Amino acid sequence: MQNKDCKKCRRINEKLFLKGEKCFGAKCVLSRKPYAPGMKGKKTRRGGKRGLSEYGMQLRDKQKVKFLYGLREKQFKNYVLKAQKTKGDDNSHKLLELLESRIDNVIFRLGFDDSRSKARQIVSHGHILINDKKVNLPSYKLKIGDKISIRPQSESKNIFKDLDIRLKKYNPPSWLRLDKDKKEGFVVGKLTVEDPSLEENFNSIIGFYSR
Ligand code: ZN
Repeated sequence: MQNKDCKKCRRINEKLFLKGEKCFGAKCVLSRKPYAPGMKGKKTRRGGKRGLSEYGMQLRDKQKVKFLYGLREKQFKNYVLKAQKTKGDDNSHKLLELLESRIDNVIFRLGFDDSRSKARQIVSHGHILINDKKVNLPSYKLKIGDKISIRPQSESKNIFKDLDIRLKKYNPPSWLRLDKDKKEGFVVGKLTVEDPSLEENFNSIIGFYSR
């Protein structure tokens, strides 16, 4: 049985963890077939660039980031256009900031769930409060100083039953502060990527849409 989301892993030729831990298991197609369709035997990107044109790499990077954040092309492109309108030179950082500050991503980064898609459900089902007010729009943009908490009536829900254990082992990125006992988070600093390969993807995406 193939996991639908792990088909995307195969297209990008990288484990994307779109449904969290499933990618560790045998259900992730990459656990069995290490090559993207049509790429059998060829090295891809980080291991050597043969097989993909510059356009192909930019396209792949764009698809990868779009899949990671769970966005449709139109939504994704809107973020890129917004980032490109930003004054100053660092459009790729602006794009990152726009995507990372979405509340569904922040819930994921706080460790409240192990995938953005489940984090999105938590938000859209109304389980999350921002500054003590219910927010159920996954694209809601957070800013420095915002407080993120679980709606008290939702704390006993099944989806949060393993949260204590999960949070114990989890450390959020430096721009978030997490109170593991109260299960509250705060945006405390400017967004950063702590994954250099992802940063490279963002530069490539701006290149793709600047063609
Ligand atoms: Zn996978």
